[in-house]
Amino acid sequence: MSGKTILVWFRNDLRIHDNEMLLEATKKATTIVPVYCVDPRHFTEAPYGTQKTGNFRAKFILESLEDLKVSLQKLGGDLLILKGIPEEILPELCKKYEVNEVYHHREVAAEETEVSSNVEDALWKMQINLKHFIGHTMHHKEDLPFPIKDIPDVFTKFRKKVEREAEIRPSFETPTQINIPANFEKSEVPTLQDLGLTEPEVDKRSVLQFKGGETEGLKRLNYYLWESEALKTYKKTRNGLLGADYSSKLSPWLAAGCLSPREIYWEVKRYEKERGANDSTYWLIFELLWRDYFRFMFKKHGTRYFMEDGIKGKENELAPNQKELFEQWKNGVTGVPFVDANMQELKHTGFMSNRGRQNVASYLVNDLKVNWTWGAAYFEEMLIDYSPASNWGNWAYIAGVGNDPRDERYFNIEKQAAEYDPHGAYVKLWSENNS
Ligand SMILES: Cc1cc2nc3c(=O)[nH]c(=O)nc-3n(C[C@H](O)[C@H](O)[C@H](O)COP(=O)(O)OP(=O)(O)OC[C@H]3O[C@@H](n4cnc5c(N)ncnc54)[C@H](O)[C@@H]3O)c2cc1C
Repeated sequence: MSGKTILVWFRNDLRIHDNEMLLEATKKATTIVPVYCVDPRHFTEAPYGTQKTGNFRAKFILESLEDLKVSLQKLGGDLLILKGIPEEILPELCKKYEVNEVYHHREVAAEETEVSSNVEDALWKMQINLKHFIGHTMHHKEDLPFPIKDIPDVFTKFRKKVEREAEIRPSFETPTQINIPANFEKSEVPTLQDLGLTEPEVDKRSVLQFKGGETEGLKRLNYYLWESEALKTYKKTRNGLLGADYSSKLSPWLAAGCLSPREIYWEVKRYEKERGANDSTYWLIFELLWRDYFRFMFKKHGTRYFMEDGIKGKENELAPNQKELFEQWKNGVTGVPFVDANMQELKHTGFMSNRGRQNVASYLVNDLKVNWTWGAAYFEEMLIDYSPASNWGNWAYIAGVGNDPRDERYFNIEKQAAEYDPHGAYVKLWSENNS
């Protein structure tokens, strides 16, 4: 064998821009083996009868894989897509391609880090190193002004210190050439049917017809900042419910790693320089800091975010008929129009606004008195932008067992509907017989 071969294990980092592990692999190795494992464990049943991945997100991921494959092919490479668990697939590929080292991005949630550990153990037996990269956050964890264990549990304290003291690193350049082994296997992106899922129906009421992939993610970023300049008024519009542009809608691409948060940060900075900074340009970065924060909190508190009593160890009161109430909530038939409209939107499109998410979560916990983890599990199945730390972190926050310094965060649904849907246009759009 001549030269070095590095296996590049893609997971939620389906992009070629600002991808340190990919760039470094192309620099350090003669040939690289880019691989994605379609893990059957992601398509199983979760507790409470929900699925781990519903068809909206699955479709988005498959589209993202297709896009990544084409991008790698354009650079002379390819993406090997195999169905199976990484713990078994990766050691086999290491043998086949005489791999010297495996690169991947570190994750923060329990299931993902466990898979990494299992892979690390399996490779260790073959004396192959699994190298970890950090690439999911805007701030690199080593640039934070505190070690993970000392990050304050109150966001504002974290934000103030980070804004004062931490800098954001520049994005990594995109590789210009990918060399793969001559005997690289051919592979196809699986279909939804291969995963036991069906094609989701297109609902023309959807805020956006989300399409997976880095190409589409970068297009949306370009549109939101430069073409429409919707960014300029983001702070005013971000609590909206209707239409594509009240918020950036970048979350699905961020969740699959089709977009790098650092790339967004630097693009916003360029926008500020060229077209002016204001409270809206700041606010988009502020929201991305929330995203970072929940990821760091997951590193700090581990599996506590998946537990009913959360990081506060607080027990919520539960209704005796919570199973029945949960079903009504899931199906958008609680009888409360604003809640039902939001749940219908989620069911038909895989998306819901931030304002909607806060309201339906609060309603489930505070009004219906249902176990919040059931709601989080349902969101996990349905959301096209599901990301463990953002989902479970926000749910725990609203359930009063997470990072909210206030004990009760109760959303008065009637008041919220009057404020954010004053003419009832949103409720009308999503009332059941309006599809
Ligand atoms: C109960 C609940 C569950 C949620 N689950 C998820 C989830 O699984 N995945 C997810 O990406 N977001 C989640 N969020 C956060 C937020 O609702 C979405 O990120 C946002 O609605 C996505 O739309 P956008 O991209 O247009 O956001 P924008 O308003 O344009 O914000 C820009 C980006 O900032 C980040 N962001 C914004 N708000 C938050 C927040 N509160 N927490 C963390 N990051 C944030 C997102 O990456 C978002 O794409 C959840 C919020 C709640 C209340």
